[in-house]
Amino acid sequence: MMLLFSAPSACSARDGFGFCVSPSGIDFMPTKIKIATSACLLGNNVRYDGGHKLDQHLIQTLGPLVEWVPICPEAESGMSIPREPMQLVSDKEKVRMITIETKQDMTDMLLRWTAEKLKHMKQEGIRGFIFKARSPSCGVHDTELFSLSGQSIGIRVGLFAEAAGKYFPSLPVEDEECLRDPGIRKRFLARILP
Ligand code: SF4
Repeated sequence: MMLLFSAPSACSARDGFGFCVSPSGIDFMPTKIKIATSACLLGNNVRYDGGHKLDQHLIQTLGPLVEWVPICPEAESGMSIPREPMQLVSDKEKVRMITIETKQDMTDMLLRWTAEKLKHMKQEGIRGFIFKARSPSCGVHDTELFSLSGQSIGIRVGLFAEAAGKYFPSLPVEDEECLRDPGIRKRFLARILP
């Protein structure tokens, strides 16, 4: 079951950013701002091991401000839950997403779905992305990249996060770990404001 969190609609006072200020002191947006977010961070059991990575800090800090739009590129593109874990592999000029044990190439399955999903997201009015750090699909800054022989050769962006960043170049894309930094979080918020 997908979890959905949204902002209350009533607003009695606003601060200098246009946020509504609740009696409890928690600010929230007067209109819902849709943020596409890795579903596992919202508590959905979509990970390769059938579990989730609910991020309480993310929910508590940004939950009152946004409407979460859960997305799991791997599960939604047709991969099973649970599934064999994957990693990014550099194959000549291309980066492929390959299962670690049986070496199945899942790249085309993921990217075919991605092309359609991004078009749909444009119509949905998505205003930003928050993705799971280090995932081969969702990682924003630090997904490990391997050579064909299995050696770690660097870090890069995950395949879905990369495609989303190219398709929506003006929208912020960040991971849950970076958003624990107050300065990064403030800049992310500034970019999703109407
Ligand atoms: S990191 Fe992305 S692809 Fe992996 S389980 Fe979470 S939402 Fe799905």
